[in-house]
Amino acid sequence: MIKEEFVEYLRALDVVVRPEEPMSLHTSFRIGGAVDCFCEVPTLEALKKVLKRCREEAIPYRVIGLGSNLLVDDEGLSGIVIKLTGDFDAIEPVGETSLRCGAGVSLAGACIAAKNRSLSGLEFAWGIPGSVGGAVYMNAGAYGGEMKDVVVSSRYLDENGEVGELVGADHAFTYRRSAYTDSPRIILDVTLQLTPGSKNEIFFRMQENMDKRKNKQPTNRPSAGSVFKRPQGYYAAALIEECGLKGKTMGGAQVSEKHSGFIVNNGGATARDVKELVEYVRRTVLEKTGVTLECEIKFWPEG
Ligand SMILES: Cc1cc2nc3c(=O)[nH]c(=O)nc-3n(C[C@H](O)[C@H](O)[C@H](O)COP(=O)(O)OP(=O)(O)OC[C@H]3O[C@@H](n4cnc5c(N)ncnc54)[C@H](O)[C@@H]3O)c2cc1C
Repeated sequence: MIKEEFVEYLRALDVVVRPEEPMSLHTSFRIGGAVDCFCEVPTLEALKKVLKRCREEAIPYRVIGLGSNLLVDDEGLSGIVIKLTGDFDAIEPVGETSLRCGAGVSLAGACIAAKNRSLSGLEFAWGIPGSVGGAVYMNAGAYGGEMKDVVVSSRYLDENGEVGELVGADHAFTYRRSAYTDSPRIILDVTLQLTPGSKNEIFFRMQENMDKRKNKQPTNRPSAGSVFKRPQGYYAAALIEECGLKGKTMGGAQVSEKHSGFIVNNGGATARDVKELVEYVRRTVLEKTGVTLECEIKFWPEG
């Protein structure tokens, strides 16, 4: 429960405050109960003050990007969810071949900015429906590319309100993980190193990737993308299909008929439906193939 005084404090910082906001409005799954307070924070100064107050009053906070890798419980969340807006939505060129993107910038926006400047390297990300911050947190990747290939540095705010920077290998990127994964640091902005290219060829590769995505993925249904990480030596979708689970339904949640690695919300799915289906799939795949599937999607509350 958030006190009215805290809400007034946030509003005075130009934070857009949405008390009792349904998280289903902010997740690509279209699932999730209400958070005590959804806060759109436009500046670094405001962010520092919000975090300081959260620390002083022991209010839990989480940062959301575009909510495309999240399953939020039906019971919702206590504390606040922070979305980075305003200054965090800016893209600026650095030298001839780099772009500094605020963490709140969509990957789509970053891809278009790169293409418009005839800069190549980000084509793989066209169609991944996340933010730059979320993509670095997850080391998002597709079609042979990943954030690891293009991120040269990033700035963050730590839990004590100090700004820090990671450079190159500091990011410790591995498959769908980075130094930010499970850390309390908030990514502020990210510098991407790209290479000069032909605008037409960049656009062509983006289109090619989007076509592959539309052919293979249920892009017309709410989901959070691939539910499971790729197990070493296997493909999660192939294992799920081999176990006869394609199309398996629990409540409003279904293992996609188009791509068995996706669970889709067919309308009215609850987080509970999705969780039960995830557990059913994991159990069946383990029993029938001996392979343990690990979730790629993040659960809020955690665990
Ligand atoms: C249809 C579909 C297709 C997809 N295809 C792909 C794909 O091809 N490849 C792929 O890798 N993923 C894919 N995804 C998953 C998802 O888009 C990526 O994981 C993406 O990087 C998540 O970004 P987001 O901004 O939505 O993060 P969110 O879902 O909002 O958050 C994910 C995690 O990142 C953290 N986070 C977000 N922003 C920050 C920040 N500024 N500072 C600190 N932590 C932060 C959150 O706290 C959370 O723990 C797909 C999803 C969908 C729905």
